[in-house]
Amino acid sequence: MRVEQLLEPAPIETRPLRSAEVAEPVPGAGELVLDVAACGVCRTDLQLVEGDLAVRRLPIVPGHQVVGRVSAVGAQVEDWEIGARAGIGWLAGTCGRCVFCRSGRENLCPDARFTGWDRDGGYAERVLVRADFALALPDDLDDLEVAPLLCGGIIGYRALKVSDVAPGGRLGLFGFGASALLAIQVAVHWECEVFVVTRSETDRRRALRLGAAWAGSYDDHLPAALDAAVTFAPVGDVVVAALRALDRGGVVAVNAIHLDRIPEFPYEPLWLERQIRSVANSTREDAAEFLRLAREIPIRTVADPYPFTQANVALLRLREGDVDGAAVLTT
Ligand SMILES: [Zn+2]
Ligand SMILES: [Zn+2]
Repeated sequence: MRVEQLLEPAPIETRPLRSAEVAEPVPGAGELVLDVAACGVCRTDLQLVEGDLAVRRLPIVPGHQVVGRVSAVGAQVEDWEIGARAGIGWLAGTCGRCVFCRSGRENLCPDARFTGWDRDGGYAERVLVRADFALALPDDLDDLEVAPLLCGGIIGYRALKVSDVAPGGRLGLFGFGASALLAIQVAVHWECEVFVVTRSETDRRRALRLGAAWAGSYDDHLPAALDAAVTFAPVGDVVVAALRALDRGGVVAVNAIHLDRIPEFPYEPLWLERQIRSVANSTREDAAEFLRLAREIPIRTVADPYPFTQANVALLRLREGDVDGAAVLTT
């Protein structure tokens, strides 16, 4: 089968992903093979390919927003059948025994494995997945619509939970990429008053169309103090900007696996029980809750499709900010 694999991280303009023909995957006990239909492109893929996120294995096939159909079922798999539609997200497996796994925090499992980082992902014709980590997908969203939900959507949803925003609360979204586009739809559904801060005029208009109460740039003063904020940009200065916009007791949830740094700042903006919390991965429960909501709201996504052999091009366009909506690779 054909895959797009990373042999060595390098700047995306050097086309670090290479097409390769590799052996067909064979499911072990408890595993499935999916025929990939679509795979969303995530900023984490770009960080991995360019070396901002340290590689864990080489070569590696990136891609952790996979939608496909089950084409082979390993031994001891009971709840999946050939032909069923399934998804794969970032969390590829956990130990199931540690204190985190046993307390509903499998996203923090020290032995967690990740799709497209530890295990080959969906920039491929077929992919292996642990059956107990494959996601059941809502029928009424098509492959291209559901793929971008599987990382950006689920983790954006977890970030909203980590931010502790209450229904009707004042929420700030700092940065307005693919994940924020989905999170705002959940927040508006919860009747939050949403304030969006982004450099891009186009994104500010898009935010207002999606129901934001206010949209401005980093130089603007927010019209009200926030109960909660989520930062999406991988930049520490943005975290501090969000913190300064919080009301007493507010939380900034940092939705980034990689951040350049946290700059030094005075204690005063953190005082009065304000908090900064990172958002790490997500649990299967987050995925199930979010996919239910996605169907109920319903969440709208705009996919920008590329053939999967054009993964380098899709990643380059993502870095340049040229992607309209969410880049999705198709087979
Ligand atoms: Zn991702
Ligand atoms: Zn564990």
